[in-house]
Amino acid sequence: MLTFKTSKEIRAYFKSRSKSIGLVPTMGALHSGHLSLAKKACAENDYVVISVYVNPTQFNHKIDLESYPSNINSDKVLLDPYSDQIIFYTPDHKDLYPGKIQSKSYNFGSITAHMEGLFRPGHFDGVATVVEALFKNIQPKKAYFGEKDFQQLQMIKNLNAQKKMNVTIVSCPIVRENDGLAMSSRNLLLSPEQRKAAPVIYATLQTLNKKNLKSDVSLMNRFFKKQVEQHCLKVEYFFVASINDLIPVSKLELNKKYRFFVAVFAGKTRLIDTIELDRI
Ligand code: AMP
Repeated sequence: MLTFKTSKEIRAYFKSRSKSIGLVPTMGALHSGHLSLAKKACAENDYVVISVYVNPTQFNHKIDLESYPSNINSDKVLLDPYSDQIIFYTPDHKDLYPGKIQSKSYNFGSITAHMEGLFRPGHFDGVATVVEALFKNIQPKKAYFGEKDFQQLQMIKNLNAQKKMNVTIVSCPIVRENDGLAMSSRNLLLSPEQRKAAPVIYATLQTLNKKNLKSDVSLMNRFFKKQVEQHCLKVEYFFVASINDLIPVSKLELNKKYRFFVAVFAGKTRLIDTIELDRI
C-alpha cells in the first residue's frame, strides 16, 4: 500500500497518470463502517485516497480530542485487501492548515443550525475547513461519506456546491454491529457495561418507527428518554427533522421524509445515531 504524508506527494504521483481518484476522509481507528466506504470507492475509482487525520478544530473538548482512539498499524491491516488501489494518506497539521490551526467560517443555513451544529458549536466549520482543503489538494472525482453522520453529509454536499468543487458526493449506509449499535471509533472507549447498554439506542429508534406515536414528537422524545435512560446512558438530544432542510419538527406531515437524530452519552463517550422514519 502506498503511504504518503503530504498532498504534494499525492499530486506528484498522479501527475503522469490519468486515473480517477476517490477520496474517503476519516479520523482513523478504522472499522467495518469505514471499510464499507473504502470498498465502494475502490469499486468506482482507479485509486482511492484514504485520509487519516484527527482534526483538532472539529472537537469541542480537549479531553475528547486527546482520548480519540488511533491505531495506524491496524488501520493498514484492515485496508490490506485493497492495498493495490489504496493510497494511505496521513497528513500532519501543516498539510491541511498552511497557517494557524483554525477553522474558516461558513454559512450552511438551516443544515448546520440544529442537532450537532447546535450542541457542538464550531464543529461543522472545523469539518468543512478540512474537507475543503482535502478536496482542493487531492482533487478527487468522487468522495465518500457515511449516513451515520447524516448532517455532516448534507453539509458537505452544500459545501461542494457553494465552492463549486465539482466532486461527486457519494453517501453510504450505516454499518452496524450484530446487536444494532452503529459502528463508531468511539465504541472502543465504552466500558463493558456501557457497551452492553448501547444497543438500546438503535432498538428504541426502531420501536418508535413502528409504534403508533409517530404524529407526536414530544411523546416520542419521552419514550426514547425513558427506554434509553433505564440503562447507564444519558440522552443529550432527540430530534425528528425533515431530511431536506434538517429543521426539527414537532408534528409530522403526511408524505414528507423525516429522520430521527439522537445523541446519547455513555459516561464521557458520546454516541450518535440516525434512521429514516417510515412514512406515516
Ligand atoms: P470518522 O472517522 O468517524 O470521521 O468517519 C469517517 C467517515 O466514515 C465518515 O464519512 C463517517 O460518516 C463514516 N462512518 C463512520 N462510521 C460509520 C458507520 N458505522 N457506517 C457507515 N459509515 C460510517
